[in-house]
Amino acid sequence: MTHVLVVEDDPGIATQLVRGLDRAGYTAESVAYGAEALQRPVPDVVLLDLGLPDIDGVDVCRRLRQQSQAAIIVVTARGEEADRVLALDEGADDYLVKPFGLAELLARIRAVLRRGQRAGTGEVLRHGPLTVDLRTRKVTVSGNDVALTPKEFAILECLATDPGRLVSRQEIIERAWDEHWYGPTKVLDVHLAALRRKLGDHTLIETVYGHGFRLADQ
Ligand code: CA
Repeated sequence: MTHVLVVEDDPGIATQLVRGLDRAGYTAESVAYGAEALQRPVPDVVLLDLGLPDIDGVDVCRRLRQQSQAAIIVVTARGEEADRVLALDEGADDYLVKPFGLAELLARIRAVLRRGQRAGTGEVLRHGPLTVDLRTRKVTVSGNDVALTPKEFAILECLATDPGRLVSRQEIIERAWDEHWYGPTKVLDVHLAALRRKLGDHTLIETVYGHGFRLADQ
C-alpha cells in the first residue's frame, strides 16, 4: 500500500484530495499543521501545501527531507514562485500550482514513485571519486557519504549511467522528472546547483554551455 500524507489547512481541499487518493487506491490521510506532518510516521509521498498556519511550508519541506526519503510534492498558490523554487532547493521532488486537477496530481505521484523504484538493479556506478549505488541509493565521494534528495539522485543517475556522455537538459528533465514536465528549466539549475554543492567537488559535473551536462573525465 502506498501511503500519501496530505498537508493542507483548507479542510475542503484536504477532504477532496484524500477522497480522490483513496479512490485511486492509495492510503491517504490529511493533517492541517506542519508540526503534525513532522510527527507522523514517514509516508511514501507527502503532498505539502506551502501556506500553512503554523510553520512555513518551506521549513516543513526542509525538515521532512532531513528526516526521511519520502517523495515530496509541494503545492503552491499562483504568485508564490519564489517559495516554490526555495522548496525545490530544500528537497521537494516536484510541485503543483493551485488549482490543479486530480488526474494531474495522480500522474505526478506515479512519476515520483516510478523514479524511486528504478533503483532495483543492484548496480553500483563508479566514476573517479564518485560511487552511486542504484539499489541503496547511497552516494559517496572519496568514500564520504553524500545525502541527496530523490531529485538530485535522479539527475546524478542520468549522468553517472554513462560517464563522459553529454546529456542534454531536455533528456535530464525527461528522465528525472517525467515526460509531462512543462515547468521552467531553471528548476533543473536549482537542483544541479544543490547537487554540485553536496558533491563538494565542483569540477565533477561539467556544464557544456548550450548543450547540457556530463561527468568530467577523471
Ligand atoms: Ca494553505
